Amino acid sequence: PLTSPAAHSLEMGADRYMGRFAPSPTGPLHAGSLLTAVASWLDARAASGHWLVRMEDIDGPRAVPGAADLILQALECHGLHWDGEVVYQGDRLAVYGEVLAELDRAGWLYACSCSRRQLRGHRVYPGWCRNGPCLPDAPHALRFRVQDACFSRNDAIQGHQHIHLSDCGDFVVMRRDGVFAYQLAVVVDDQAQGITHVVRGLDLLDSTPRQWALQQALGYRTPSYAHLPLVINRHGDKLSKQNRAAPLSLTEPRPAMLAVLAALGLPVDAHIAACSLSDILDWARQHWSLCPLQGKTCIAAATLGA
Ligand code: GLU
Repeated sequence: PLTSPAAHSLEMGADRYMGRFAPSPTGPLHAGSLLTAVASWLDARAASGHWLVRMEDIDGPRAVPGAADLILQALECHGLHWDGEVVYQGDRLAVYGEVLAELDRAGWLYACSCSRRQLRGHRVYPGWCRNGPCLPDAPHALRFRVQDACFSRNDAIQGHQHIHLSDCGDFVVMRRDGVFAYQLAVVVDDQAQGITHVVRGLDLLDSTPRQWALQQALGYRTPSYAHLPLVINRHGDKLSKQNRAAPLSLTEPRPAMLAVLAALGLPVDAHIAACSLSDILDWARQHWSLCPLQGKTCIAAATLGA
């Protein structure tokens, strides 16, 4: 493994629970992303830990101007206050470039000229450019060369995960258009921010072995992971900005908060429902547990009033 340069570090304090919420600013917060934010906030606060916010805004075409501010405003108005400064991935491109160069020097990367069209129908990258790009003069992405290895790890909600890296295939760390891939940026930032616990949506469970592989290659520590059930609409689709989930009310945050807490398995009752937002959050922190979520993969959006 490589050593990570101290210059990457944005750490706030060692050995303390360090959680984070890392939205992509593609639209305002909705009931599904609120659930992720609340669960990661509660998990951190129940452990007297820190909770950081990171804007994953490097995917230029998807990032929507103004969305980051709307998300921060919604977090504040739901009483989810974060520690330290918000980190914007857009400010950290030089760091991702350095780490990419580090991986390249150590032989982990190769140039891949395969287009999305060529790869249609292939769930796993077939490795065509592993020994040199098929089209040396065409624009190329950079792929991480996965080893034929197995990871056996526990997810705090989804349970035991046993994954062969060959099932993931070599994955892109820098796209053909020069954009750093999510997999790379998230691993570099989780390390730099000293993240010890990741609580996020189940749609990212598939990405986790890729992140483990990168962490191992870079000599980074691996945080503990908990993948939350997905909030799905009545068509069975993940609630998202893309399928136009309704933005949250910023004037009356309590109903959405109570619905999210109940969906997360907290015993919300009439007495709690009549409390102030800050009392509701204090109560939730005291009663927080991942146990009611164990093994659960989805939550109906209707139960969140969404
Ligand atoms: N930015 C990702 C998203 O909004 C989340 C990344 C993560 O939590 O690792 O889906």
